[in-house]
Amino acid sequence: MAKNPIYQIHDPRFARMIVGSARLEELYTGCRWAEGPVWFSDANQLLWSDIPNQRMLRWTPEGGVSVFRQPSNFANGHTRDRQGRLISCEHGTRRVTRTEMDGSITVLAESYQSKRLNSPNDVVVRSDGTIWFTDPTYGILSDYEGYRAEPEQETRNVYRLDPQIGELEAVVTDFNQPNGLAFSPDEKILYVADSGASHDEGLPRHIRAFDVASGGLANGRVFATIDNGIPDGIRTDMAGNLWSSAGDGVHCFAPDGTLLGKILVPQTVANLTFGGPRRNRLFIAATTSLYSIYVTATGAQMP
Ligand code: MG
Repeated sequence: MAKNPIYQIHDPRFARMIVGSARLEELYTGCRWAEGPVWFSDANQLLWSDIPNQRMLRWTPEGGVSVFRQPSNFANGHTRDRQGRLISCEHGTRRVTRTEMDGSITVLAESYQSKRLNSPNDVVVRSDGTIWFTDPTYGILSDYEGYRAEPEQETRNVYRLDPQIGELEAVVTDFNQPNGLAFSPDEKILYVADSGASHDEGLPRHIRAFDVASGGLANGRVFATIDNGIPDGIRTDMAGNLWSSAGDGVHCFAPDGTLLGKILVPQTVANLTFGGPRRNRLFIAATTSLYSIYVTATGAQMP
């Protein structure tokens, strides 16, 4: 295993989470900045974003790649709610939307305290139906991944949305650039990446953990710091390990924050998700390409 150039094993536990003979497969290339992979087990398909190209792409094992939606309003991160509906963060419109089963779009959030959001980046749904998303400024910094604008919000927040009553609450307000998020399998912990170092080396490149208290978050602490590049999208597996995007690939952390190992990827990784019928296949959005690799871990995300 040590001779295998795509795996870096920092802890023996990681050797049991990978398939030694498994290789990185490039499923598609031709994106400008690939992001936001989301798996649809019922449709056996992956959707993801190609943000600067204003499009969302679809991959299926049988059919390959096709355009799912264009223009996409510079969509970034996606997830699904408990009814299986697509939830999307859009830079161009600075909103979070839900795609209904008939294809129509419902706007879930676009302002907070009567001011426009910055540019929603990534999103997760808890089993109680609440929608949690991050709102950094990446989508308004230039005209490349959205439309350049001055932020109206004074801070870059993590939000909790109750779609039943439309209530939007800023649950963390002290991030530099909040980015990917993921719940632990028992939903008692919310992990949120801070990718502030993307534009200033002195700013955070870490993942914070919060205890999920009734309706809010408590006991925020630094869970892990990324040693190559920045953390962007993150996911957890059924055993509670956290898998993070990074400059040199995918980093896997134990629930106590120990770096277990890395899967090296030839391009900067922006996001990842578990998919396939057994949720044991990592789909990796990495700059111009979509990659996949089988692992022995099983993704925690639902549905
Ligand atoms: Mg992101």
